[in-house]
Amino acid sequence: METAEIRRRWLRFFESTGHSVVPSAPLIYDDPNLLFVNAGMVPFKPYFLGQQTPQWKRATSVQKCVRTGDIEEVGKTSRHGTFFQMNGNFSFGDYFKREAVEMAWELLTTSQSDGGYGLDGERLWPTVFKDDDEAFDLWRDVIGVPADRITRRDENDNYWHMGVAGPGGPSSEIFFDRGPDYGVEGGPAVDEDRYMEIWNLVFMQFELSEVRSKADFDVAGELPARNVDTGMGLERIASLLQGVDNLYEIDEVFPVLDRAAEMTGKKYGVHSRHDAAHSHPDDVHLRVVADHVRSSLMLIGDGVTPGNEGRGYVLRRMLRRAVRAMRLLGYEDKALPELLPVSKDRMKASYPELEADFARISQIAYAEEDAFRRTLVSGTTILDTAVTRAKQTQASTGGQSPAQLSGAQAFQLHDTYGFPIDLTLEMAGEQGVQVDEPGFRRLMQEQRDRAKADAKSKKAGHGSTEVWKELRAAGATDFQAYQALSCEATVSGLVRDGALVEELGQGSTGQVVLDRTTFYAESGGQIADEGVIRADGALLKVLDVQRPVKGLIVHTVEVQEGALLKGATVEAEVDPEWRLSACQAHSGTHVVHAALRQVLGPSALQSGSYNKPGYLRLDFAWNQALSAETRSEIEEVANAAVRRDLPVSAAYMTLPQARELGALALFGETYDEQVRVVEIGGPWSRELCGGTHVQHSSQVGALTLTGESSVGSGVRRVEAFVGMDALRYLAAERALVAELSQLVKAQPGELKDRVGDLLKRVKDAERQVAELRQQHVLAQAGELVGQAKDVFGVRYIGHDAGELSGDEVRGLVLDLRGRLGDGAPSVVAVTGLSKGRPVVVVGTNPLAREWGIRAGDLVKVAASTLGGGGGGKPDLAQGGGSDAGKVGEALQRIEHTVGETVTAGR
Ligand code: ATP
Ligand code: MG
Repeated sequence: METAEIRRRWLRFFESTGHSVVPSAPLIYDDPNLLFVNAGMVPFKPYFLGQQTPQWKRATSVQKCVRTGDIEEVGKTSRHGTFFQMNGNFSFGDYFKREAVEMAWELLTTSQSDGGYGLDGERLWPTVFKDDDEAFDLWRDVIGVPADRITRRDENDNYWHMGVAGPGGPSSEIFFDRGPDYGVEGGPAVDEDRYMEIWNLVFMQFELSEVRSKADFDVAGELPARNVDTGMGLERIASLLQGVDNLYEIDEVFPVLDRAAEMTGKKYGVHSRHDAAHSHPDDVHLRVVADHVRSSLMLIGDGVTPGNEGRGYVLRRMLRRAVRAMRLLGYEDKALPELLPVSKDRMKASYPELEADFARISQIAYAEEDAFRRTLVSGTTILDTAVTRAKQTQASTGGQSPAQLSGAQAFQLHDTYGFPIDLTLEMAGEQGVQVDEPGFRRLMQEQRDRAKADAKSKKAGHGSTEVWKELRAAGATDFQAYQALSCEATVSGLVRDGALVEELGQGSTGQVVLDRTTFYAESGGQIADEGVIRADGALLKVLDVQRPVKGLIVHTVEVQEGALLKGATVEAEVDPEWRLSACQAHSGTHVVHAALRQVLGPSALQSGSYNKPGYLRLDFAWNQALSAETRSEIEEVANAAVRRDLPVSAAYMTLPQARELGALALFGETYDEQVRVVEIGGPWSRELCGGTHVQHSSQVGALTLTGESSVGSGVRRVEAFVGMDALRYLAAERALVAELSQLVKAQPGELKDRVGDLLKRVKDAERQVAELRQQHVLAQAGELVGQAKDVFGVRYIGHDAGELSGDEVRGLVLDLRGRLGDGAPSVVAVTGLSKGRPVVVVGTNPLAREWGIRAGDLVKVAASTLGGGGGGKPDLAQGGGSDAGKVGEALQRIEHTVGETVTAGR
């Protein structure tokens, strides 16, 4: 049975028993404690915690999950994927243990022809919590499972809670016996690979007052409303129903594995047994490739991009592990372009958006592989050097302790060369070298803390989170920024230096919380509003506006006049000029984004943006620089949209509705149940956005792109000015053109030709000057030869040529030496001045050298006088210095040395 069919049957079965079908939440979910959704119940947490009331009593879903903790298990067990799908049925104060158990049994054991999964009930082994007699009795008496197939297990296996005080309760898990090929007999307590867990039923029954660890907690009493949360691994059941050994061999995963085997020339499975414990390393690598390629596809699909932190790092690690596994299998070419499309083709049956989005997804994945390939080239050399050195150090200390790379070395490899730590560990390990991992982690943490401290102090306006939570508990700020520029409000809290205060006095800086405000808090790339807050006798300038916790808007202010008291009535006034420019910039960002995608195609998706009055920048997925023509085209499309005076509107809807409309969501952001969709000209531009906007596109005014650059692999940035700032920018350019026209005396239209012409003439003139100088220099030569001295039998010329480059001095020396001929020993020394620095060149002829005179020695003597250095061969040498005033002295010393050398030889 295909995985897609298993999923269909699941939803049909639970729908027919009164469950509402809830679509999967994206892998990134609004939960600060979770990197990714890791269980079907995550989107339902607020209901289980009693924070929200669900609109259904029963719900069912097939939830996308990623468990980063299982990454090391991949390929080595038969049942762990990093990405997998969890089928769940949920009861909110409705049915409890009996129905949950009955329904699970029914779906699992009903024959396939009757719409079930058709598993043999004799091979199902339920477990229950040791004290949960109720569940035990249900399995034995209601379902009829023999008592010896029902295992009682303790808190570590069969109790569920969230790790904190709150709901908890026993669970009951269903295992399937895959038979003697997969391990030894004895039930789930003995072998969890042969007896594979497929479904976990959690009965939320108690209120826990304190939780100290998984197995150590206090039960306060029964919950008023009891809930059920179950999770069945879709891939695990698929592996059973498809008769394969593990979940890497099911229809949604195997084609990638198969393709990888073909590419690497490996015969998958022939050297492994059915149970995962006896797997050939090549097979494990192939499974890793198949699993990680699929997980990466799903993660990028849900908006994760590779990075060095958090979610981005998990993705990077998976992509790189996949590429590396291919290398270990002997494949060194680019692998992902071969593998990713295979995975997409398998997954699109259940996730059609993968097909539509594949251009973007693949671009990100391939760029990461390319980056990794470059990293491998540079990093491997550095790693190898470090490893060799570590081995040498170990050998020199007698080889007692094992060779080790320091935490600092590992950190540098990570920080400077993008070498992930696990790769360092793996590659060092292959050479028998250990890595100080705790040391590495410490350095990473320090780096992270520094970054966090920076971000936090800004976000919280230097207050502590506790203070904001307390203020938030009193009520959310009524956010009026979309409706008005000013409003009357009451001061609900004042904070100075992180503590609540009753008053902000004149001259002080602090934070103000109002019951309502028209100030826009920095978010979604738009910076905070500027303006003032007025109260009776007080005037406060708003310096910054942030939202440190959801629902609470905090104004950082400077009290310019009077004092502000808690409880006072104030007027919050946003500067209208400022706001208009801010709106222009934000709407302008949407316009540029739409124009980019129109010109470059839909894969040019925004990955980040920043806008402030008059200016915007936008980062987007793209691999190469934009040509001048493309930039002009984008500018043209953007300005045409401005000119068409398209209406700008905002509407609230659910996320699925917004997706349906094709609204662009900024990946990596989490959205509330109700999202705000901003449209410019209806479908022309449709984005999820909380920013402030103009009402008609014409209000954006002029829009001019000023720059385009790269900001990391696969991401480009465009910058633009809008409105008055665009005009000012253009005006400044026009003024520049006018000045240039004046300067070169040409009409603006002729400027290009004129400047080109001037440049050519300058070049010609320079060449002529050089020629003339050469002639002049050589003209001196004849005269200089006549002035050659006799120094103890050596014909000697010492000459200061003045303003002359090193090359020219050299040319002159060679010319003079030639003219002196080889009839008698001769030495030529010439100094020059190039860019303010003295140069000296000395040449000797063969007879002079026979007499022991070497040009190199003479240059050294001269250069030391000039305060510099130099050298060369015995026949020709050059040097220089810094003291131009000493060239005369330097020449004298050369002459003197020539004399000394000759007389010493006699
Ligand atoms: P195991 O002990 O086998 O790792 P678990 O106890 O972590 O499983 P639960 O947290 O109870 O599993 O998750 C509910 C169901 O989700 C499991 O019964 C299983 O079918 C499935 N599941 C859990 N982890 C994975 C995984 N990494 N890959 C595929 N399916 C999984
Ligand atoms: Mg697990």
